[in-house]
Amino acid sequence: GSRPDLLEMDGGYQRLMSNLPSEPEFEQAYKELASTLENSSLFEKHPEYKKALQVAAIPERVIQFRVTWEDDKGQVQVNRGFRVQYNSALGPYKGGLRFHPSVNLSILKFLGFEQCFKNALTGLSMGGGKGGADFDPKGKSDNEIRKFSVAFMRGLAKHIGADTDVPAGDIGVSPREIGWMFGAYRAEQNKWEGVLTGKGGNWGGSLIRPEATGFGLVYYVQHMIQYASGGKDSFKGKRVAISGSGNVAQYAALKAIELGAIIISLSDSKGALIATDEKGITPDLVNYIADLKVKRKQLTELAESTEYKDKFKYIDGARPWVHCGKVDVALPSATQNEVSGEEAEKLIEAGAKFIAEGSNMGCTQDAINVFEKARKEKKGEAIWYAPGKAANAGGVAVSGLEMAQNSARLKWTSEEVDEKLKGIMANCFENCLATAKEYVPSAEGEFPSLVAGGNIAGFSKVAAAM
Ligand code: GLU
Repeated sequence: GSRPDLLEMDGGYQRLMSNLPSEPEFEQAYKELASTLENSSLFEKHPEYKKALQVAAIPERVIQFRVTWEDDKGQVQVNRGFRVQYNSALGPYKGGLRFHPSVNLSILKFLGFEQCFKNALTGLSMGGGKGGADFDPKGKSDNEIRKFSVAFMRGLAKHIGADTDVPAGDIGVSPREIGWMFGAYRAEQNKWEGVLTGKGGNWGGSLIRPEATGFGLVYYVQHMIQYASGGKDSFKGKRVAISGSGNVAQYAALKAIELGAIIISLSDSKGALIATDEKGITPDLVNYIADLKVKRKQLTELAESTEYKDKFKYIDGARPWVHCGKVDVALPSATQNEVSGEEAEKLIEAGAKFIAEGSNMGCTQDAINVFEKARKEKKGEAIWYAPGKAANAGGVAVSGLEMAQNSARLKWTSEEVDEKLKGIMANCFENCLATAKEYVPSAEGEFPSLVAGGNIAGFSKVAAAM
């Protein structure tokens, strides 16, 4: 058939896919997972998991619906809404909603598929799902986004519930949109329940949820640095390149700064911001950018700020990776496939030792291959890559804690939630490490593969539950 690599890995899978339209993002995510499982001893120890992989590749249910809404001119607009209910073996379907013009079933299937294993890695009882719409919030008024959010929930409400499927935010969906959708759900279903996470702090949301993905990412990398240095090294003085400027990038930057790191870049869909000041991007500037983003403005607007305009250079149309000078840590935190193989080579040349995804599938397969090859070759001196399903699991983990608080009708303090988040990220790292050591043969002095460890640990948990 047209997909020989899938055929090679598993004849059954090719048969399942051969009469379907191609789904490039989903196939990429599937192949990435399947290849690491095949190159480990997992299927020797658990032959039944080969079938489980074929089963887990297909979502339990896909819901597609029409979303009609009225724009500010009184015109009818229409978009496509989706919810992919991927796997409920471990708990209610759980995963975000993405509002972005690129959204289609391939992207939501890749995100939902990854979500199943990410959620398993949190150790909490959550299945996997993802949803969203091909709606573009850019250029829309607040009123239009509210109307769209309410109309979207009108289509989705009957398919979700606190014990069935619990969506949250993702790209284009912040606590504000969650609020509009939560109100629509209550009106539609006549009940208050924890059906969405990422809610506002004074109406059922968990403290630390907005910070959780970025903080968790930095906690995960802290473990990588500590392990690689035998406990001697930390974030202090490290030059950290970050892409993106949304919720994940902002809080990753703030936490890394708190730990003594220097943030050398941020970016958005229009270009990259590179710090020219030796102190790097300061918390003030991160907060200024956060305000811009709430107003759906671009980083280009920063050029108009007299306060900050001498502290950075803006590179139009670029991603940050090749423009940062020396890099110690790289945290792709914008969107999928935002680091190419070539950029991965350049990052290594620039000194990058730790690469961890705040975004889902932030690295192309070529980039992962470059990082994994370097990990194997540079023994003793780490070049170490962590996939999003492990490194960015802190967001959905605190969503899980929000579900627990809603069910118990309790509210935990910031300190309590942050402590739990730290514990979850520590367990996640240890689990990836131990699983890689158990299932993947490695040469003397080689750092265990966090990609293989994360994939095998997450998948095994789901497969065993199924
Ligand atoms: N969208 C986030 C993710 O990719 C969070 C999902 C959630 O909190 O349910 O993991």
